[in-house]
Amino acid sequence: MRGANPVRLGLGRLVSLATSLRSQHAAILSNMFSLYLQAFEHYQPLGKRVLHVLTTLPAEVQQDFLSDTRFTVSLDNFVPGEGSTVFMAVPGGTGVGSRSVVLRPRLSECDEAFAHYVIAHEFAHAYLRNGPWGDISDVENAADALAAAWGFAQPANPPWVGR
Ligand SMILES: [Zn+2]
Repeated sequence: MRGANPVRLGLGRLVSLATSLRSQHAAILSNMFSLYLQAFEHYQPLGKRVLHVLTTLPAEVQQDFLSDTRFTVSLDNFVPGEGSTVFMAVPGGTGVGSRSVVLRPRLSECDEAFAHYVIAHEFAHAYLRNGPWGDISDVENAADALAAAWGFAQPANPPWVGR
């Protein structure tokens, strides 16, 4: 009997199928995330840094963001000579439960690991809706801990001036 009998798929075929599904999944994700990245089109490598963090997040976090229209990522309006020494991303929107992430253009210029950490920290705030995480009631510590759990721990000597 010929035809699709999954039991008869060899291991090699299964592995290549899984690999192709994984790369299709990655392509679909980066397509979906590209909606968030339009603001960063002319701010590279910041756009690439944001995409790297988004594609590294756990699937349930990605789903949560993608399914919520209140989740947005935007570029801070840069005013030359004003506030340019502040590396830290600023929390966007107002009030409890805000899910807007606003990133500063200088995240394009600073150390890559630091930029990834800041971006993940801001996404952690958005995921936690600016709230605590488990037993961690301080929202800044909660965002740091969750970012670290995602693989973006705070660098040993963060170059920030303010936060
Ligand atoms: Zn924060």
